[in-house]
Amino acid sequence: MSSMELERLREELDAINKDLLGLLSRRGRIAQEIGIIKEAQGVAKFDPARENQMLGELAELNEGPFDDATIKQLFKHIFKASLELQKPDARKQLLVSRKRQSEDTVVQAKDILIGGGAHLMVAGPCSVESYEQVRTVAAAMKAAGVRVIRGGAFKPRTSPYDFQGLGVEGLRILKEVADEFDLVTISEIVHPNHIELAQQYIDVIQIGARNMQNFELLKAAGEARIPVLLKRGLAATMDEFLHAAEYVVAGGNSQVMLIERGIRTYEKWTRNTLDISAVPLLKQESHLPVLVDVAHSTGRKEIMLPCAKAALAAGADGIMIEVHPDPPTALSDAEQQLTIPQFEQFFAQLKASGLFHER
Ligand code: PEP
Ligand code: MN
Repeated sequence: MSSMELERLREELDAINKDLLGLLSRRGRIAQEIGIIKEAQGVAKFDPARENQMLGELAELNEGPFDDATIKQLFKHIFKASLELQKPDARKQLLVSRKRQSEDTVVQAKDILIGGGAHLMVAGPCSVESYEQVRTVAAAMKAAGVRVIRGGAFKPRTSPYDFQGLGVEGLRILKEVADEFDLVTISEIVHPNHIELAQQYIDVIQIGARNMQNFELLKAAGEARIPVLLKRGLAATMDEFLHAAEYVVAGGNSQVMLIERGIRTYEKWTRNTLDISAVPLLKQESHLPVLVDVAHSTGRKEIMLPCAKAALAAGADGIMIEVHPDPPTALSDAEQQLTIPQFEQFFAQLKASGLFHER
């Protein structure tokens, strides 16, 4: 075959590609029109019987050289892409997606802004145990320049025999101490009915890993007007995590933060496995602030500092860590809570690394 002949055939292919593109675009526009009619009629967009019939007819007419299976496969792709065109925009791109909103969401909890460049440190005990305990931590946090304190009042524990938290009394303690030191509070809520109540006491509600797919809780959080810190489920994929956040945002509450807290893997040297890749992925795919909980993800005090550095280097908007005045006596997560001096050192070293940028 001469090179001139090859050139001619290639030109012929290029022309066919253009014809095919024109036909595909025409087909796409018709599919969109059909989609509008089906939407108005309230009929399902996907019609498997009709799709089967079209594929059968095409196979009948097929003269080769592609075999019937290949033809069917190619057309199935076209049908699927056409179906996508029929979906309303809202279902194609999640509200939490960067494709829907390119600029970072900045969450506001009282006077604290989270996301959009500066870093946030969230520290405090795993559980609220007493007024004195929270007050001691709060005073130290304030002195260290930390304005956001955490503390669980409703504790989702693996065993029903373990400390379940002080409940509303715990929220009340958080409020009293936060008022004294001008702090912002985060606490986990585990029941949809408690969200309204929680708003009287705390500034951010946490939805814990075990409740990431508690859809009624997510919907209730969506109706609330209080920022939400959503933890990644114990074995949740990125897709599941973002869809969980979508429940809250779709419900009308755009003030959502995501927090990677480690996932369950076969590794036993850490409590969970910190999925650092989740940070750039979430930042890329979503406009919501992304935090990293170095306490629950690692469960090991001696690696929390490098993991926090890694999180910030990967693009996280903030860090969460647990601090207790006397960790060995803690009623939950005793082994992973830092003492106050340990926290002070941790925070000083993180700032000295140059990775932590305050607003
Ligand atoms: C917590 O932060 O107190 C907690 C229980 O964490 P997680 O839901 O990530 O296990
Ligand atoms: Mn804990």
